[in-house]
Amino acid sequence: MNGMREWRAQHPKATLREMEDERDAQWVRVRARMLEDMALASAAVDWTETPTGQHPTCPDCSQALQLRGSDTRTLQTHGGQDVTLARRYGTCPACGAGLFPPR
Ligand SMILES: [Zn+2]
Repeated sequence: MNGMREWRAQHPKATLREMEDERDAQWVRVRARMLEDMALASAAVDWTETPTGQHPTCPDCSQALQLRGSDTRTLQTHGGQDVTLARRYGTCPACGAGLFPPR
């Protein structure tokens, strides 16, 4: 939380209310980065080490999905910060459905 000290130095006459607002804004940004890190950490274990026979399956045909690499998606936190998530993307060889399986 070094940002707060810097901000304080740049705003020596800030009111308590302004400090509170800045503190909230910084926390929202930090929280967004933490969420992103958590999401990326779980995406990293997706499929890369999974044997073909244990790939996720299509909910309609129960066929093992073919890995098609990953796709990214940008979400917004409650504070309006962007969080970019990378997710594995697969397609079903039987019906061609494109899926983002949970694992
Ligand atoms: Zn299918």
